[in-house]
Amino acid sequence: MDASFAQIQGYDTYPLKSPRRLEVFNGLETSASKITYIAVALMIVGDHHEPRALFFLTQLSENPIVLGLPWLAKHEVTIKAAILALIFESDHC
Ligand SMILES: [Zn+2]
Repeated sequence: MDASFAQIQGYDTYPLKSPRRLEVFNGLETSASKITYIAVALMIVGDHHEPRALFFLTQLSENPIVLGLPWLAKHEVTIKAAILALIFESDHC
């Protein structure tokens, strides 16, 4: 999640005990600085409702939130790009 977006939205933020690096889809580390804070926020995506979703805070340029591959995998999300939909097939939460 973009750190400025989290601040504007007034989300609760917490420092990480130890900074972690940010990897992109191909496993490479970004040039962005390490992540030092998380935000906790209500997340509603379609019919999926997560009252306390955790987001790593960083600087994003185009979209305020990017769902990570581990989160997508945990929720067994199928992306239906043609109809701009995410289908949740897991009972994880
Ligand atoms: Zn969830």
